[in-house]
Amino acid sequence: MNEIKPSVCPYDCPDCCGLLVTVQDGRAVHIAGDPNHPFTRGTLCPKMAHYERTVHAKGRIMTPLKRIGKKGEGRFKPISWEAAIAEIAEHWQSIIDDFGAEAILPYSYAGTMGTIGYSAGHPLFYKLGATSLDRTICAPAKSRGYRDVMGATLPTAPQEAQESDMIILWSISMLATDIHFRHDIEIARQRGARIYCIDTYRTKTADCADAFLCPRPGTDGALALAVLHVLAKEGLCDRAFLRRHVQGAEALERKILPRYTPEAAADITGIPAEDIRSFARAYGRARAPFIRLGSGQSRYTNGSMTTRLITCLPAFVGAYAKKGGGLLTSASGSHAFDKSIIRRPDLERPGVRHINMCELGHALNDASLTPPIKALYVYSSNPACTVP
Ligand code: SF4
Repeated sequence: MNEIKPSVCPYDCPDCCGLLVTVQDGRAVHIAGDPNHPFTRGTLCPKMAHYERTVHAKGRIMTPLKRIGKKGEGRFKPISWEAAIAEIAEHWQSIIDDFGAEAILPYSYAGTMGTIGYSAGHPLFYKLGATSLDRTICAPAKSRGYRDVMGATLPTAPQEAQESDMIILWSISMLATDIHFRHDIEIARQRGARIYCIDTYRTKTADCADAFLCPRPGTDGALALAVLHVLAKEGLCDRAFLRRHVQGAEALERKILPRYTPEAAADITGIPAEDIRSFARAYGRARAPFIRLGSGQSRYTNGSMTTRLITCLPAFVGAYAKKGGGLLTSASGSHAFDKSIIRRPDLERPGVRHINMCELGHALNDASLTPPIKALYVYSSNPACTVP
């Protein structure tokens, strides 16, 4: 007999789709989205569409595998967890005896983004005194830039966008990575909102927008500065909001903005000055503009500063105070849990060496590194793919 059981998606995005799993004789035979899940509303992305096949696939790896051939030959044999753990522990102990624990480097990132899988390895390596990994890939620069402006204030909730009259999808390929936000956009659109997309190349998301701006890679900050310039010059700022809630706006306006005319920004970004001006005017005149900020801009060396500048835009027009207005960076940092309970940063040894995960290749090849890296422990990440 079939039974339908509610569950949630275990894959790698913060949306945590609600699932309805049809189970037959103890086996999942069909997966569908749960229409009653308040945020994901029954839509699953293609990764989950046939999860019942994945979960029962013959090729799934169910045990640890030990390499028995040369590296690259692809010859492995299954071993038990006990044997695998004992072998790793013995190997690490001899490394610690000869070189110290800093010769061990963990390498991990979000994995499937579950709170436990992401974070539960940290305490082991802190306690060991292993080299600490600075997990910098992807969006930490964005988080830092947002925090520098907004402190601990939470980003605007995605559902608020339904009330907006101007939604800007900035550096985000929404149709690939944030499909549920589309529900909110469609509601806003039916109520008359205009949708803008800003990205460094034309994605399918850009095709769904009413207007598309295409800055050169790494120049989004100059675009934001020019928008601020126009807002200030054309009397489109919310002065009362700035006086009451914003520190440093006056200095930004006096010292920095005069340089960033739309013409100057056009030279930097490649977007025609008139397009920048009309975008800025639309933003300044919108009742409640909403920015959905992705992570593309975070992946340049100026990612944090770019995010800071974009985060200033809603402040200049007082959008943070308006229903439907504001800025959403990510819903994953919504502070539902205190992750330090799992990560235990208090266990990290003072003065322990840190290595930036983007520098993995250098760290492994640097003959002057003392101690050298003698063991690399990779979990919840695929550095061959992400730091080739
Ligand atoms: S969007 Fe896809 S990966 Fe993300 S939670 Fe939903 S089904 Fe899972």
